[in-house]
Amino acid sequence: MDSLIKKIESQEELANQLDLDLLQREKLLEKVAHFAKDYLEDLHDAKAFSQKEPQQDAFRIGQSQKTIEEILTIFKEDVAEPGIRASSGKHMGYIPGGGIYASALGDFLAAITNEYAGISYASPGAVAMENEVLNWLKKLFSFPETAVGNLTSGGSIANLIALTSARDKYGVKNQQILKSVIYLTPQTHHCIHKSLRIIGLEDVIIRYVQLDDHYKMDTIDLEKQIQVDKSQGLFPFLVIGSAGTTDVGAIDPLDEIARMAALYKLWFHVDAAYGGFFILTSKKNLFQGIEKADSIVVDPHKSMFIPYGIGAVLVKDSTAVLHSNLYMANYMQDALSDDLLKDPANVSPELTKHFRALRIWMPLQLHGIAPFIANLEEKLLLTTYFRAQLMAAGFLIGPEPDLSISYFWYPFKEDQNAFNKRLLHHIHEDGSVFLSSTLLNEKFVIRIAVLSFRTKLESIDKAMGMINRCLEKTLKEWK
Ligand SMILES: *Cc1c(COP(=O)(O)O)cnc(C)c1O
Repeated sequence: MDSLIKKIESQEELANQLDLDLLQREKLLEKVAHFAKDYLEDLHDAKAFSQKEPQQDAFRIGQSQKTIEEILTIFKEDVAEPGIRASSGKHMGYIPGGGIYASALGDFLAAITNEYAGISYASPGAVAMENEVLNWLKKLFSFPETAVGNLTSGGSIANLIALTSARDKYGVKNQQILKSVIYLTPQTHHCIHKSLRIIGLEDVIIRYVQLDDHYKMDTIDLEKQIQVDKSQGLFPFLVIGSAGTTDVGAIDPLDEIARMAALYKLWFHVDAAYGGFFILTSKKNLFQGIEKADSIVVDPHKSMFIPYGIGAVLVKDSTAVLHSNLYMANYMQDALSDDLLKDPANVSPELTKHFRALRIWMPLQLHGIAPFIANLEEKLLLTTYFRAQLMAAGFLIGPEPDLSISYFWYPFKEDQNAFNKRLLHHIHEDGSVFLSSTLLNEKFVIRIAVLSFRTKLESIDKAMGMINRCLEKTLKEWK
């Protein structure tokens, strides 16, 4: 016994280093807070994109220990600086969000107390908060209280949960897979295809429904395809609409898709990862029919400006969700009680999970919902402003967008794609504002995605200045 105690004691001093004392904690916190202060003060003038490469060596683990100062220097130079500055209001590529400050503090508290957010008895408060955020989402999208939901890492996993539920509700497995049909459009986000492979539906039949001039699902073509498939003995079971596509921000005719889904008894899934929260704005009418969906996905780390790492899924059929996610352990033997549905672990592939509710709940409580809505309305208006400025500068622009994503190109007389590609090259080299591109019917276009809460009138003016600068450069090269 004595020798055992000696052995334990021999480890103690070193082991205790992980449990910092008050002074050590205060010092670290002060340094990190100071870093955050400097970072945010410099953010306004910092470039939105840098082609600087991080130094891999700086990240090596297992060499000598580093001081907090050294660590923050590495973080600044090799993490915060290279690539896209996602926190910047001048990030208007892909789908930005910004990352609001109160969420960072929520994450800090979630990590300090280390709440176990997977199961109610472990942290009834954390789980109750998580479920209240989901209840708020149900109200927002007019989903019934009986719907279940989950706060996920993002839209991809949220979509995976919804599609798995659709698969399980319709029993799409074994030989049935080869006869089962899913309807979507060429604008559907690629994570849907990824999910289908992950959940064993690689061999399902996928029908691409035609798009109209605004890149929205053509529901006449949808109905035609369903009828043909049915008449051939196939098994249509799922139709996927988008409420805000990544390419052009288009919202599919949800109400009409819902009607088709009801008529032909299909599961109706809506991917609203980007556009979902615009339902809070003057664009609400475009979302009509979303309440009839069987499942929806939204990404608070996009149109709620929360830092990356939070998506959400809502599903009406709780039995379908539980089928794959509920594991009946001995201590949970009461079949489908309300309590089972309460536990995030029963409706998601995750068991131990990050306590994500706090990073959205805290900002909502601190600020109220009104500034979020004002930001979304402002982003819609800024998009209109941006498009007008682009037109005035001689660019051509896509059709009037539903939300805050649009695109433009320069109508150069020959080699238009190569010209616009070169233009984007200069934009990336410049880096003061970040934009990305896409291909629409083989046409290379430059996207504008106005969504960060830090994107302001002045950011658009800056973007125009940069675009004009880069256009001049490109025109000179082409002569
Ligand atoms: C971003 C996005 C996704 C993927 O979500 P992640 O949060 O990146 O995993 C899916 N669908 C749409 C429409 C999106 O905009």
